[in-house]
Amino acid sequence: MTLEIRPTIDPRDPSFLQDVADGSVRLTPSQGLQLFHDLPLAELGRWADKRCRAIHGEHIRTYVMDRNINYTNVCTAKCTFCAFRRDLGADDAYTLSFEQIDEKITELTAIGGTQILMQGGMNPELPLEWYESLLGDIRKKHPGVHVHAFSPPEVVEFVNFFDPPGTTFREKVHWVLSRLQAAGLQSIPGGGGEIFAQAVREKIGLGKCCAETWLTVMHVAHELGMNTSATMMFGHIDGVADRIHHMALVRDWQDRALRDFEQDGGGRYMAFISWPFQRENTPLGRVREWAPDTDGEFPGDVVAQLDGSGEKSMHSEFGRRLRLSGASDYLRTQAISRLILDNIYSIGASWVTMGPHVGQIALQFGANDMGSVMMEENVVSAAGTTYCMSEQVLCHLIRDTGFTPAQRDNSYDLLAVHDTAASPDLQVEDWSMLRASPAQDSSDTLVSLTQS
Ligand code: SF4
Repeated sequence: MTLEIRPTIDPRDPSFLQDVADGSVRLTPSQGLQLFHDLPLAELGRWADKRCRAIHGEHIRTYVMDRNINYTNVCTAKCTFCAFRRDLGADDAYTLSFEQIDEKITELTAIGGTQILMQGGMNPELPLEWYESLLGDIRKKHPGVHVHAFSPPEVVEFVNFFDPPGTTFREKVHWVLSRLQAAGLQSIPGGGGEIFAQAVREKIGLGKCCAETWLTVMHVAHELGMNTSATMMFGHIDGVADRIHHMALVRDWQDRALRDFEQDGGGRYMAFISWPFQRENTPLGRVREWAPDTDGEFPGDVVAQLDGSGEKSMHSEFGRRLRLSGASDYLRTQAISRLILDNIYSIGASWVTMGPHVGQIALQFGANDMGSVMMEENVVSAAGTTYCMSEQVLCHLIRDTGFTPAQRDNSYDLLAVHDTAASPDLQVEDWSMLRASPAQDSSDTLVSLTQS
């Protein structure tokens, strides 16, 4: 369905916003930017919540039980926000064996988990056959577990490492993804999205693919019938217009996926998840924080353009000042993503870095999903505080916000609606041992949540 666009109207007009919330009108990027800056936080949240309720109803909010498996930390890229990667040959470089991966999945299924999110560094030592054998092994031993794996930057490196047949990049991606899909890959996570604007990308994602390439990989996945997610990592050197541009690109490419492939059973972006940059242990985190009183306008805002055309030459200090995101900036960003991304079903609350109570508020700022309940997380937690909690605590947080918690699968179909006395959180008699807490390690009984 083509949504109406009213580019000349003031987007703060309540009747216009009601139409956006109802899903009959599309925001332009400049209207999105104006709403981000001009609407009071609570009001922006209320409109995002209305839009969320129009799609997901009044009652149920979801989570998924899965495990993040980072199969290798060897990586050819040098993202400045990453504390996880290692060079090939480093003392603490690793690649998990099939047995170690099998053990992790067995632990996952023992607690009712249904999905693995498998991502790694870009390791030039692993051939295509290694990935095909791994996927085959997982499918054979764990046929009921959904394999959500290999973000676009990994797929791009697969193309570089494996030299597949094809004359265009798109054909090569098609060949690689077809092989992986035949071996057992079912959907693609949105890792490596960061910020699409090239000026930002060049500064923070050294060796990582550009936006067009990232989006093309996902378009091929959609053509092959695989669903994907999209992500955004903000709150570093980016300007607010970069975030809006990023969301608008995801929306455009979702339109293309639906137009090109929907009738033939193609895939699509099922979810959008955004989270603030975590600075600890990262090169980017050592950049000086922006001081509004002495530094003037934030360089990222000067460079950021809604059409993505910003260039680093537009401000001499671009990339040399950080503007970290707090809770209100995070909630504002998530709320505007719900209003702009009118063709994306799920908006995920990312409390892994912000903490569970901000996650609860996120459910009232446009998010319908508390994301992945995971048994371990290595990439984000290497760069700062992450939180872990049990399924009981997660259900409790959703219920405490006024919703019924429900476990979902990768397609967002509901597996268990916890509306009876047998619900995980309603079984708990002593809550003193079950508070959410900063993650210490990869506990078997506690689960931590992360993104994508
Ligand atoms: S974020 Fe991913 S691609 Fe970038 S350096 Fe770290 S492991 Fe490599």
